Amino acid sequence: MPATERVVIERTPSGAGSLTGVEARHMRKRTGGCNCGQVRFEVSGEPVRVGFCHCLVCRKETGSLGNFFAVWPSDQVSVTGETGSWRQTTDNRHFCVTCGSSVFGLIDGVNEVEIRVGSFDDAPMDFTLAYELWTPRRERWLDPVDGAEQHVGNRT
Ligand SMILES: [Zn+2]
Ligand SMILES: [Zn+2]
Repeated sequence: MPATERVVIERTPSGAGSLTGVEARHMRKRTGGCNCGQVRFEVSGEPVRVGFCHCLVCRKETGSLGNFFAVWPSDQVSVTGETGSWRQTTDNRHFCVTCGSSVFGLIDGVNEVEIRVGSFDDAPMDFTLAYELWTPRRERWLDPVDGAEQHVGNRT
């Protein structure tokens, strides 16, 4: 069993981080959460990058095609609720302890949150896919996405 931990990523108070309070208020907000509603999050502004990973770990995490994710700086993300997590190398994958939905990932030493795009409240979302990872693992009936960088492994 993974250890249960409480993760609350507080938005940086105005003046203390990279954003001023005025900037933060003018940024677009998007919300999401797990299936049961115990874990909720809000992100401000646009993601710094959007990708899709076809690797085996991401397939097993989602039980599906892989991991469609969008990344924000930590100070533009707030999360409430209790998540469990498990860890592979430096990658900590968080899920709701009640319903099991995958919600986000945190990478050691990186001040970013990798939100699972499928956990947003709206579908479909309006993000443009910038890159695909581990393309040899892509399901045969899925085509490469036009305009997205194609990587046979992780980005280097
Ligand atoms: Zn839940
Ligand atoms: Zn992956």
